[in-house]
Amino acid sequence: MNDKIISLPKEVVMKIAAGEVVEKPASIVKELVENSIDAGATAITVEIKDGGISYLRVVDNGSGIRENMIALAFERHSTSKLFSSNDLFNIKTLGFRGEALASIAAVSKVTLTTKHKEAENGVTVENHGGVITNIKPSAFSMGTSIVVKELFFNTPVRLKFLKKPISEASSISDLLMRLILSRPDISFRYVNNGKTIYHSIGDGKLESAISRVYDVSTAKKLIEVNYSSNGIIIKGYVGVFDLEKGNRSNQTFFVNGRYFKDDIVSSALETSCRGFVTVSKFPMCIIDIIVPYNSVDVNVHPNKLEVRFENPNLLKEVIIEAVTNALNNIYISNEIINNDNINEAKLNLNDEIFNTFDDIKNTTYNVDVLKPNLEAFKNVFNNDSEKLLSDSSYTVLEPKIKWRPLEFSNNSEDVQNKNNNSIQETFIENKPEIDIRDSIIIIGTIFNTFILLEYKEKLLIIDQHAAFERINFEKMLTAYKNKNLKQEYLTPILINLNQREIDFIREHQDELYDSGFDITFFDDDSIAVRSVPILLGEPMSIKSCLQEIFNNWDNKKDNLSKEIAREKILQFACKHSIKAGDKLDDDTIFQIVKQLFIDNIVPTCPHGRPIIIELTKNELYKRFKRIQ
Ligand code: ADP
Ligand code: MG
Repeated sequence: MNDKIISLPKEVVMKIAAGEVVEKPASIVKELVENSIDAGATAITVEIKDGGISYLRVVDNGSGIRENMIALAFERHSTSKLFSSNDLFNIKTLGFRGEALASIAAVSKVTLTTKHKEAENGVTVENHGGVITNIKPSAFSMGTSIVVKELFFNTPVRLKFLKKPISEASSISDLLMRLILSRPDISFRYVNNGKTIYHSIGDGKLESAISRVYDVSTAKKLIEVNYSSNGIIIKGYVGVFDLEKGNRSNQTFFVNGRYFKDDIVSSALETSCRGFVTVSKFPMCIIDIIVPYNSVDVNVHPNKLEVRFENPNLLKEVIIEAVTNALNNIYISNEIINNDNINEAKLNLNDEIFNTFDDIKNTTYNVDVLKPNLEAFKNVFNNDSEKLLSDSSYTVLEPKIKWRPLEFSNNSEDVQNKNNNSIQETFIENKPEIDIRDSIIIIGTIFNTFILLEYKEKLLIIDQHAAFERINFEKMLTAYKNKNLKQEYLTPILINLNQREIDFIREHQDELYDSGFDITFFDDDSIAVRSVPILLGEPMSIKSCLQEIFNNWDNKKDNLSKEIAREKILQFACKHSIKAGDKLDDDTIFQIVKQLFIDNIVPTCPHGRPIIIELTKNELYKRFKRIQ
């Protein structure tokens, strides 16, 4: 080491500083769009090429910059938004560090064109690598346009660390999605390689913004949250049931309109959604947390994605209350249904719940109908397997059950709780060994979800969808091993997808191919599918299957081995072979039972959700106090 201490030359300092702010093209877009928002813009266009690495442009209709201020705007720590250190604790603008323009210009070639609202003419300024090279008048009529070319042209090492253009573009798409959701009052247009990806209307309605970023049906299924307590306001929407996702990437939180990420708020949301979302899945949300400006520190991280709350525990509690309240309203809306006062969005959302309620309320239990058929079943199953396999003369009973949930008085509830403790529902690690000489009785199905079986001294409850999925998965794996997985179409099927989905497919094209999806890119926003894995079913379900793979892909595990990735894709494909809540027909139910217990298609219990739960006669006897 040299023992001479020198002050670093300005350009070196600038490049070091730029490293903090300009991590990748998406961070530039974020800074530039935030500047446009701070300048009061109502329309902002973002255009990128090659993931924003070779070209990106942000144009706004905001206030513009005074000509004599432009040079200063490119200086480090120069801002029009902060005047004293006191202001730091009361930040209402998105920018305040005065670093962005300086940092961006230090590592790229910037062309800034602007016309201040009070100026007669516009002006264009070139700044290459932090040095202003050219100033000339411009016919620009209003606002500001900033073009950033050749990012990291003077820091080749950092250029090497950028991801592929597709990945950089998808970070930018993701950012634009949050920006659109954060400001429904601003009309955003986002163009990638000449193609418009998002165009929000800017009518001030969050629902419109959600419809543009997701789609209308998602917007309809979301549950509104609107709650305030202890000076904190929680506003926005939560998505559960079929809006659940495989990761947190569809959770959007804002604090006072500023997008941020935080484990505390996400886990508060997830705590409140337990029971509304499958285990290991995640709710989606768009939630704005409104708190006094001085109770949150946004100056924690250079890209301002992290914030620090004065009282995180209180915030957590308020979020839990807010979301729990909103979700409880779903049940109230069930009452509304009965009053013929139907809210369409809520009705869609709760299809599954309503089915369940309806089943309970409207089905009738008729022992006489049930009995003779049960006997018929016993006969079928008492025969040997040869006979069973060839015999198609079976019927599966639909339970004709009129069953109202029992209303317990406080007292009896106590008794019930006590008894609950003594009940042990066993998650079966390995499926019960069935001796086909014993009878399996298919009692029927309940809630379009579970198949009930009586076998020996046990009541077996099968999750029909989990079982069906698993059986299909096994079949697909066998087909894969036999190189017989693809189901080819005579003419390719064209499917329209959004940019993020297309990017995803481009990135995982190989694994998709290995799993039976032969996909080529038709044009900017559509793909041509030539084959799908067998069992996927109707061509109509291809799109939703691909979307589901995309939505549930855990990015953290992005460097999965191809083998695992392929298995994951197959799993989704099987999942898609039936939809949750689908009513399975009698034949399918029979096949499920047969394949599970007699054909032994599923070798062991899968990881994840259990397929079968058993309740022994003894446990039931104990619960009814027939025995101790
Ligand atoms: P900061 O946003 O933290 O103030 P920046 O480096 O991002 O710092 O911008 C410096 C200054 O340039 C801003 O304070 C603002 O006055 C001006 N500026 C930047 N972009 C725009 C824009 N799009 N419209 C109007 N003024 C802008
Ligand atoms: Mg700024």
